[in-house]
Amino acid sequence: MYPRPFDYLVPSTKEEALDILAERGDEVKILAGGQSLIPMMKLRFASPATLVDINRLPNLNAIEIQNGHVRIQALARHADVVRSEVVKAENAAIASAAPWIADPLVRNLGTLCGSVAHHDPEGDWASVMLAVGAEVVAESRERSVQSHPGSDAQHVGGTRVIPIEDFLVDMFATALHPTELLTEVRIPRYARGGGDYQKLERKIGDYATVGVATHLELDDAGVITRAGIALTSVYYRNLKVPEAEAVLVGNAPSEGLFAEAAQIAKAACDPTDDVRGSAAYKRDIVRVFVERGLANSLAKAQG
Ligand SMILES: Cc1cc2nc3c(=O)[nH]c(=O)nc-3n(C[C@H](O)[C@H](O)[C@H](O)COP(=O)(O)OP(=O)(O)OC[C@H]3O[C@@H](n4cnc5c(N)ncnc54)[C@H](O)[C@@H]3O)c2cc1C
Repeated sequence: MYPRPFDYLVPSTKEEALDILAERGDEVKILAGGQSLIPMMKLRFASPATLVDINRLPNLNAIEIQNGHVRIQALARHADVVRSEVVKAENAAIASAAPWIADPLVRNLGTLCGSVAHHDPEGDWASVMLAVGAEVVAESRERSVQSHPGSDAQHVGGTRVIPIEDFLVDMFATALHPTELLTEVRIPRYARGGGDYQKLERKIGDYATVGVATHLELDDAGVITRAGIALTSVYYRNLKVPEAEAVLVGNAPSEGLFAEAAQIAKAACDPTDDVRGSAAYKRDIVRVFVERGLANSLAKAQG
């Protein structure tokens, strides 16, 4: 099927893009890699009146360290994340997940930020971002608005920094306003840590049957100071498991502790029976992947 007709705008600066969003808001969809949006438009699940193609915006594809964070900007492609020396050196969970996203063609076009903005519950990046404690940066045009004639003007817009748990509101729904552009995700740096992404897929390039992101940080004595566990494709949305993280923090890592966290994650998820496997099978894969992911994260943190 062909998409419905739409206006196609190609701003050449971020300011121009924000102006279009401020003016047209609700009727606009931003086009980044197009790897989720274009199929949705062809199936007519999405029929935006206006597409704003952000691919020509300058200075929006960096993956770099800034103010204690790794920042991944809106036009950094999945393939850039795979290749990034900053990611390899700085965040083991992201480095582990990147080659698992789709196939090489999709990785060359699709973006990590687009995946987070799309919030498909089968998307891998949202789980990884939940595990590593990312923040999302959203920008909109600063302007004064009056709620009704004669009322005091209110100042709206500017830059918002949103913790990923607050950003991911529901499946295919985020905290982003229609006038906002997601400009980057920020991931806190760590002194001593490691992470991992385990993914079961039917064939290369497929979405996850089960995906598990894990992240551990250790102090000098080897005690766990931060833990992240998040699951893909086994709940109606990407699922962070704070109860499993809580049993890890403050303790020395051990196989027994990891097994306990894995059982909690297994109980927290709620997969469905489908062609990829039964719910019981997927639950047990979650258990196995959490144990394995935590062991791999620890090995990377130790060395
Ligand atoms: C064959 C195939 C296999 C795939 N396999 C996987 C997989 O295994 N794992 C996985 O995680 N994903 C998979 N994907 C999805 C892929 O990762 C997409 O690239 C990603 O979901 C969306 O990124 P994009 O840049 O292509 O976004 P687009 O398709 O351009 O946009 C997606 C949505 O996000 C919005 N958006 C995009 N960027 C911004 C921004 N900067 N600010 C505000 N809103 C924005 C758009 O308006 C749209 O609503 C697959 C896709 C295909 C086609």
